[in-house]
Amino acid sequence: MSTPIPDPAQRWRCGGCGNLTRFDVRRTRRTTEFWHFDLAGGHAVEETEVEAETVESVTCRWCGRDDAVEVVARADVGADVAADVAAGVDAEHPGRPGTAAAQP
Ligand SMILES: [Zn+2]
Repeated sequence: MSTPIPDPAQRWRCGGCGNLTRFDVRRTRRTTEFWHFDLAGGHAVEETEVEAETVESVTCRWCGRDDAVEVVARADVGADVAADVAAGVDAEHPGRPGTAAAQP
């Protein structure tokens, strides 16, 4: 199962633990890059054109699941995070293992 990359109005959320911020993304990309060398031989990639891209897996950094990451609307999460902040919950780690919220 491949997880779609979120568009600008979306983000990822792990349905297993609630993680919103940390994911390992395995993807294959075919690109054309502009490599700009300096006179010493070091280089910087100044332009990257992505010609093809396949996301193979998106794995939650917290619980390790790669079958539970879902695309959600940022606006929905924003409301949840605002509510969590109001309730004193760590907004960046709403369901982090070890907190009460992570218990099933
Ligand atoms: Zn997770």
